[in-house]
Order: sequence, then C-alpha cells, then structure tokens
Amino acid sequence: MACAAEHAAFNFIAVTAACAEVQRREDRPVDGTSLAMGAAAACLPSLPDFLEPAVHPNHRQFFHSVTFAVALSFGMRRVYKWEPEGELERIARAVLLIGGAAYLAHLARDAFTAKSLPLV
Ligand SMILES: [Zn+2]
Repeated sequence: MACAAEHAAFNFIAVTAACAEVQRREDRPVDGTSLAMGAAAACLPSLPDFLEPAVHPNHRQFFHSVTFAVALSFGMRRVYKWEPEGELERIARAVLLIGGAAYLAHLARDAFTAKSLPLV
C-alpha cells in the first residue's frame, strides 16, 4: 500500500502536469494555476481511503474501482465544461475539480501497486 506522503507527492506531480497540459492545449498563458491546483491536490492525498480505510490489504472495493474512476472522470468532464455564473459557482467548480483530480490521482497511484484496482 502506498502511504499518504507518497500519494501527496504523486497527486502534486500528476495534477500539476495535467493542468499544465490543459493550459497548453487551450493556448492559455502559463501562470501559477497548475502549481496551485497540484498543491491543493497534494493536500487531499487519501480521499478514497477516507471512504474505504486501508485497514487491511483487501480494502479496495467500489470506491477504489476502475468503474468508479471512469464514472468520476465523466462527472469531472461535465464540471470542467460547466460555465459558472457567479462567484459561488466558480468556487464550487474549482473545489470539485481539485477534489476530483486528487481522487483520480490517488486511484492512478493505487493502480500501479501489486493489488491494483478491482474492476467493480
Ligand atoms: Zn487507496
């Protein structure tokens, strides 16, 4: 099992790189946004383990599954395309994107362990 520090470091690298790539593809100027997103994701290293605590080697169930990762990815795409109308919606969108990215980064890191992720 990967520890919280490993997940935090992986979250920072993965989310920073993903955000920088999105900025590059959208021809947006490079600023500190990707670093801020990565740092925020590093502060949420173990969201899936909060739902399914790592108390034994077979703790990975539905919320650690490939199926949940795919469903979350579709939800994140919808949130990404959402155009907020007010400040509160803009903050909600940012929180959802950061939380979702941190969650997916955690699952990606877990997928490369010996136990990997269950399909369902
Ligand atoms: Zn985990």
